[in-house]
Amino acid sequence: MTTTLLPKPTAAIPDRAIYERRESGVRSYARSMPRQFNKAQDVWMHDNQGGRYLDFLSGCSTLNYGHNHPVLKTALMDYIANDGVTHGLDLHTDAKQDFLAALEDVILKPRGLDYRAMFTGPTGTNAVEAAIKLARKITGRELVIAFTNGFHGMTLGALACTGNAAKRGGAGVPLNHVSHEPYDGYHGPDVDTAELLERRLSDPSSGLDAPAAILVETVQGEGGLNAASPAWLRKIADIAKRHGALMIVDDIQAGVGRTGNFFSFEGMGFTPDIVTMAKSLSGMGLPFALTLFRPELDQWSPGEHNGTFRGNNHAFVTATAALRHFWSNDAFQQDIARRGALLERRLDAMAAEHGLSTRGRGMMRGIDVGSGEVAETITAACFAQGLIIETSGAHDEIVKVLAPLVIDDAVLSAGLDILEAAVRSALTVTYGVAAE
Ligand SMILES: *Cc1c(COP(=O)(O)O)cnc(C)c1O
Repeated sequence: MTTTLLPKPTAAIPDRAIYERRESGVRSYARSMPRQFNKAQDVWMHDNQGGRYLDFLSGCSTLNYGHNHPVLKTALMDYIANDGVTHGLDLHTDAKQDFLAALEDVILKPRGLDYRAMFTGPTGTNAVEAAIKLARKITGRELVIAFTNGFHGMTLGALACTGNAAKRGGAGVPLNHVSHEPYDGYHGPDVDTAELLERRLSDPSSGLDAPAAILVETVQGEGGLNAASPAWLRKIADIAKRHGALMIVDDIQAGVGRTGNFFSFEGMGFTPDIVTMAKSLSGMGLPFALTLFRPELDQWSPGEHNGTFRGNNHAFVTATAALRHFWSNDAFQQDIARRGALLERRLDAMAAEHGLSTRGRGMMRGIDVGSGEVAETITAACFAQGLIIETSGAHDEIVKVLAPLVIDDAVLSAGLDILEAAVRSALTVTYGVAAE
């Protein structure tokens, strides 16, 4: 294997005094990856000591096209060089028009989808807030049905829909008007949790109110990479329709190619009423969020849900370039399918070697190593070898691979070799201790 395919980590930990003195203790990733990064290109991040790291985190799937993709970078640099509008509230700009045209031509029309686009504040959680507000406004109902292990963001409305107790604890106020129902597979393979939901909603004495919306991730990004089956999702869509609720697919992490297609629900035989997008939508890591909904649902009055940064024009430019470059034909989707199959094969082999199981779909997959402690040992060992990788799940017990979708197959394999060795060594040590 040539050295250009391999990371080159450094051991030196830079001076962190300024961060310890001035930055809030709320920082998290910076603790497990104590380097100072100063450059990023393609699938690589570089530290200021000359080290090179292979990025299997991709900003939690915000960098599906890698870091600083040349096509996106050039589009943005040209736009800035020509004094294109950077901030314009929600004014019409050339950049916004181009984005909407690309969304229509490249994404919506070929998929037979008819959605209106609402530019919310630039984070994913804001797209979720807008989605649940709209559902409540339209239906006149309060309750949102979300699912166990779901993750939807940190502002109060979205946080109420999030399962994780530690995150919920940060709210400081009751998180109401949401019921967390069991996700697909939550009670094991023999219990159909869609049937349970249908039973409760059909029973006037179940205590479950009629919901405004059912909010679901097709693959749970932060909640452990549980992938719902298409049949289960179709049932959920059907239940929503039958009970007068709107189905919201939160595609913030699973969308933009991560699971194989632009939308994670493509080809599954249902169409969500509302879809939220963010993370990789801008393509370059610029903040940009979008709530899509059926045109009949567009019952907002002007400014009813607003924000200073609605429509980040720089993000419009990079998102447009990304849509046209990657999604105008299906070559990219074929690449993702091939890489996803390679990833699946390698993770399955690791799981088989140690009696573990795997999770996920497409290029959104992980391995359940049994505990958060073992997972942390593995991710730390990977980082020492120059591989940036993180965990997911209720107990952080899933080591998740979120490599950029553009990753060269050989580089993907090289990174998986590092992961495989780290898994082997962590599990060998763990069993050794347990057996004593
Ligand atoms: C990251 C994420 C969010 C929140 O997005 P932010 O930009 O962090 O606010 C919401 N839903 C899902 C599924 C996510 O992965």
